[in-house]
Order: sequence, then structure tokens, then C-alpha cells
Amino acid sequence: AQTRYASIRERTATTRCGKTVGMFMNAGLMADLPSLQSSGAEGVGLFRTELQFLVRNQMPRRSELVSIYARVLDAAQDKRVVFRTLDIGSDKVLPYMRPTDEPNPALGWRAIRVGLDKPGVLRMQLQALIRAADGRPLTVMFPFIAQYEEYTSARAEVDKALERERKLGHPLPSKLEVGAMLETPSIAFASRRFFEEVDFLSIGGNDLKQFFFAADRENERVRRRYDTLNVSFLSLIEQIVERCRETNTPVSFCGEDAGRPVEALAIAAIGVHNLSMRPASIGPVKSLLLRSDLDAVRKVITDARERGDMSVRPALMEHLAQSGS
Ligand code: PEP
Ligand code: MG
Repeated sequence: AQTRYASIRERTATTRCGKTVGMFMNAGLMADLPSLQSSGAEGVGLFRTELQFLVRNQMPRRSELVSIYARVLDAAQDKRVVFRTLDIGSDKVLPYMRPTDEPNPALGWRAIRVGLDKPGVLRMQLQALIRAADGRPLTVMFPFIAQYEEYTSARAEVDKALERERKLGHPLPSKLEVGAMLETPSIAFASRRFFEEVDFLSIGGNDLKQFFFAADRENERVRRRYDTLNVSFLSLIEQIVERCRETNTPVSFCGEDAGRPVEALAIAAIGVHNLSMRPASIGPVKSLLLRSDLDAVRKVITDARERGDMSVRPALMEHLAQSGS
């Protein structure tokens, strides 16, 4: 599939109406790194650091993490890499950690909740990231931030880590960006301060959709029941984008839907600046964006909502058929 799209690999995803959408890839393992060149990705929009923890049978040491993260940054050269701190719990259980017996793991003690309650591993990760950056730019993102204070507490850990590393004489990142994933509906309604203080936001559509519709993303019976192009869900995305616009906060989308061309088109039309997806999806998504007019797509979405459609999909498919896409 990647050779099929080779001719557009180096092109930026600029639409017919002149808007440019950032095309990033999701990664997490060393095996993903060659895709940075072959897919035409502008960088890694989501590096799932937990994958390095999940493929081991014991907790990695800090020195191992430093060398892993340094290799990722070396491979990326000057492309941006968004390192998401450990997102464990729920479906991702570390074999060497005591399992917690929770009735609803997806709603349980996971991700940043673990990071803040038992900060040892989070601190080790932050230290390893700063050391790996070794004076280069560094981008860190916290998963599963459900309220403003979780972000400020996590960010305070970054400041502490910087101070510790400075005292030890290690070079600090030349530029540091600290962002949050937006994957619970609650944080879409956080105070303006939250949107002002984050350096960027990334919508984790997989979890956001699961919690918005109360439909388990792991449960085959319900996971396809609600369409991403459902007008209610798109309204939520629109509100998030609007709030980000008010505070000039860059916003990305990194759930699986970013790699589905029609869904990606709708998300981009709503005004999300960057998409991050599996590398093989970059070609097909970019190809559709290059042929599309996002203003026209936006109008299809608005008209569908005003008409009272449940999902924008039928109208959008008709629009694509008519415009020959
Ligand atoms: C998401 O929730 O959309 C996301 C990108 O994170 P993960 O799939 O790793 O939970
Ligand atoms: Mg998630």
C-alpha cells in the first residue's frame, strides 16, 4: 500500500480549499521507526510508551529507557515525537505488576491516575526522556487527564524532573512542550485555564468515543453500534476545536478514526490541525484530503445536523460520490 502512495509521500496534505492538515504516525515499538521515512509522516503524533513495558517480563531500567527514547529521537532526526507517558491499566496490564481486581478496569485505576498515585515510574520515565533528549526538543503528553488538577500535578512532576536533571548537570531540552490527551468527556468541559495551560491537546478518539456513548471499545457487541460520524459525537469534537481556537491551543486527533479516510476528512473539516494514525493509513487519508474541499465538507456536516440526520455518513458519502472522490 505504501508504494501505491509513493508519489504523494513527500507532499503536505493541503486540501483544494488551501488548508493544510499535519499528518503524523502512531508508534510504540522500535519496529515502527522505519515507517517514519517510508510513510511520509511528519513525525510521531503518539508514541505509546507502554508498549516497551508490555513486551518485557520485568520493569525496564531507567538506563534502558534512556537508550530506547534516544533511538526514537535519533530515528526521527528533527521530526517531532510526542511521547505519551505510561498508559497502563484497563486493557493494558503489565505482567510484572500486581494485578488490581477492578470491576470496571476501563473506568479504573489506569494511566495518569497510576502515574500520580504511585509516581515512581512516571518520574523514571520523565527523567529518561529528558536524558534521551540530551538538549534536543522534547514533547511529553499525559494520557487520560480527566480534570484540570491532574494536568497541573503531572506538569509539576515535569518541572521537578527538570530541576533534578539540571542539578545533576544534564543538559535540558532546548524546547519543551507538555500536552494532554483529551479522552474523557469531562475534560472537554474543563475551565478555560486548562486549555490555556496545556501546550497542545490530542483527542484520543478511541477512549473519548467509548466514554461518550458508554460503549466498551473492547466489546464486539457494542463497539460498532455508534458511528463516529454520529452528529452528537461530531458536535463534541466541534466544541473541543472551538475551545482550542479561543485559546490558540493546537489540537490533534490520534484515535483509530484518524486513519479512516472518511472519518479523518470529517475531523479535519471540523478544524483539527493534526491527525496521527497507523503509518499505512497516511497514504489513503492524505490522498483523500488532497482531493477534498474542507469548507464543502463542513457544510455537509452542518446541513446534516440541521436536517436532523443521526449520522453525517450518508450525506458525506453522497457528497464524495458527487465530487468524484
Ligand atoms: C485513544 O484512546 O484514542 C488513544 C489514542 O489511546 P489508546 O488507543 O492507546 O487508548
Ligand atoms: Mg486512550
